[in-house]
Amino acid sequence: MVLILMGPPGCGKGTQGKRLEERYGIPQLAMGDMLRDAVRNNTQVGLKAKDYLDRGALVPDAVIVDVMRERLQKSDCSHGFILDGFPRTIGQAEALQNLLGQIRQNLLAAVNLDVPDEDVVQRLSGRRTCRACGTPYHVTFSPPAKADVCDRCGGELIQRSDDREVTIRARLGVYREQTSPLINYYDRLGLLRNVKGTGNIDEIFNAICSLIEEEKRQDTKK
Ligand code: AMP
Repeated sequence: MVLILMGPPGCGKGTQGKRLEERYGIPQLAMGDMLRDAVRNNTQVGLKAKDYLDRGALVPDAVIVDVMRERLQKSDCSHGFILDGFPRTIGQAEALQNLLGQIRQNLLAAVNLDVPDEDVVQRLSGRRTCRACGTPYHVTFSPPAKADVCDRCGGELIQRSDDREVTIRARLGVYREQTSPLINYYDRLGLLRNVKGTGNIDEIFNAICSLIEEEKRQDTKK
């Protein structure tokens, strides 16, 4: 099963992706996490990506597609994966079709989590992320049991440097211009599934799971 989680920054891709990873036993491939790791480890990719991340701009497609190509070769992807934050441009979506062809996997659906801009700013400015495992929290909406400590792995919770208001606004602009055209792209392929991304986290998760089950039923009928 290959699933794309789409939507503006802060729509809940990371939160829902982590839960889906646990439910379905396939990895969540979070491009933002991979890039932040690369920056932290001073790799070639990290050096190329750092400035873009700091500005909230998109890292060039060529760099991103190489990172994804390499990641998809790993054995944990052989039964499927959840894409979080990739693709973010039409060029990346086209490259993904090629990559999937090479590894003989099909896209089940592109789930678009719909969240208004005002909610995005509120969510991201209160977001804290585990430095070790990337699990997201919110100081008000989903705080950890113990302040600044990850419930999942005990890691330290930090505020991402791009979760400050000026950068959040820049990322929303980038989303509108470069990423939102993907909604039409996947709609035309018959793969787009819209899910309301506001409200209770469990309800959103259940809505995504029902949709996955329905797609899988349709797939086995084919
Ligand atoms: P995220 O953690 O998904 O919010 O991504 C954080 C930042 O990483 C973005 O603001 C971009 O600078 C970069 N990034 C993540 N995914 C991509 C992508 N698919 N294409 C280009 N840049 C990306």
